[in-house]
Amino acid sequence: MTQHAAEAAEAALAAYAPYSKFRVGALVVAEDGRTWSGCNVENAAYGSTICAEANALGSAMASGHRGPIEVFVACIDATHVRDATPCGNCRQLFSELGVTHITITIDGTDSRRFTLDDLLPHRFELPDDPRPS
Ligand SMILES: [Zn+2]
Repeated sequence: MTQHAAEAAEAALAAYAPYSKFRVGALVVAEDGRTWSGCNVENAAYGSTICAEANALGSAMASGHRGPIEVFVACIDATHVRDATPCGNCRQLFSELGVTHITITIDGTDSRRFTLDDLLPHRFELPDDPRPS
């Protein structure tokens, strides 16, 4: 497991996942090496749940970071979900916030790396794209 995948797995240890018992951690890595981590935070009102990826991306944005980033996701309770991938909402966030690659590690052993086009090939984008290029 790479250092970034290990840091994502460490972030998963802080997850609040009493409903799914599916702890996830994420690490956002900028081109200059800065990192931000996040974990999933569930809620009895399921729609209020925050994914680990969204949590980490929010921290990166809150620090003022803009520009290309890579995301490492670690699922540490994935015994029954061997092919877990980010949800549709997180994929759309990846599109908006400049994520270039997503590496997913399952239980510290099975690691797969995707491009954004792999995960969201026909994504929603506005014609007058305000994102920095
Ligand atoms: Zn998600």
